[in-house]
Amino acid sequence: ETASAAKPGLLGRLFGRKDAPAVVRRELDDDMLEQLEELLIASDMGVDTALRVTANMAEGRYGKRLSVQEIKELLATEVARIMEPVARPLPLFPKRPQVVLVVGVNGSGKTTTIGKLASQFRAAGKKVVIAAGDTFRAAAVEQLQVWGERAGVPVLTAPEGSDPASLAFDAMEQATRDGADLLMIDTAGRLQNRSDLMEELAKIVRVIRKHDETAPHNTLLVLDATTGQNALNQVKIFQEVSDVSGLVMTKLDGTAKGGVLVALADKFGLPIHAIGVGEQIDDLAPFDPEEFAAALTG
Ligand code: GDP
Repeated sequence: ETASAAKPGLLGRLFGRKDAPAVVRRELDDDMLEQLEELLIASDMGVDTALRVTANMAEGRYGKRLSVQEIKELLATEVARIMEPVARPLPLFPKRPQVVLVVGVNGSGKTTTIGKLASQFRAAGKKVVIAAGDTFRAAAVEQLQVWGERAGVPVLTAPEGSDPASLAFDAMEQATRDGADLLMIDTAGRLQNRSDLMEELAKIVRVIRKHDETAPHNTLLVLDATTGQNALNQVKIFQEVSDVSGLVMTKLDGTAKGGVLVALADKFGLPIHAIGVGEQIDDLAPFDPEEFAAALTG
């Protein structure tokens, strides 16, 4: 095997050189495990998950001499094992409309993700309606209207500052009347006053349940990968204020190292429905655990 076949992004440094050939072997000892842990932590995986991953790697192999290729495969296998159970597309329900509440802090990519999802579902032949539930941010509403146009999907709005729950109620009515398959409701992402946000989301849920007591069928939390370990905090907070059922991780096309996804899967086990890989309408991809593990290990 050639050196380039074993091109070790993350792991090359373990062998003291960037282009360590596949034939070079090193003992899987404490020193090596510690270095591995450091690399994983630097990839945003967090300490707990990094320790668990390296412990699993060492099990039954401690003291063995392994090549960079073998370590890479071992690591990719461990990462994929954590990620496989959470790699699930947004589940579709036979309900009409299926109600998807979209939550997340401002700037995480909620609007963009709603637009991308709307476009995908529309391309799959679904009738989609969007409700611009962040009624306090005029710019957010405008931006959502732009995405609605791009996706060819109607966006229901309400006057600035009006009650988001009342918009959600009207949106349920209209989506039902129009026979829509999917209603996506955008929500405010202000965490400054958590009890206000909790009350606002609870009220939206209460009113849509007047139409359908099983709604919302999904509560999608949108997270920004570039915030690194902060994403873990956001899951905790949004689990307190809403009933998060799944995640979309955005901005994985940028400099984000992505290890935080492993930490999220390890800690919360929430499904990852999709990943954002750019700013364009088609830049939403299903989450592929093996591809992800291979990319992370380099
Ligand atoms: P919101 O405030 O949560 O609704 O966030 P927006 O949807 O407005 O997104 C905030 C910024 O992030 C915008 O500039 C988007 O173009 C950008 N963005 C969203 N998703 C992605 C992504 O997957 N990749 C990249 N590179 N940028 C993204």
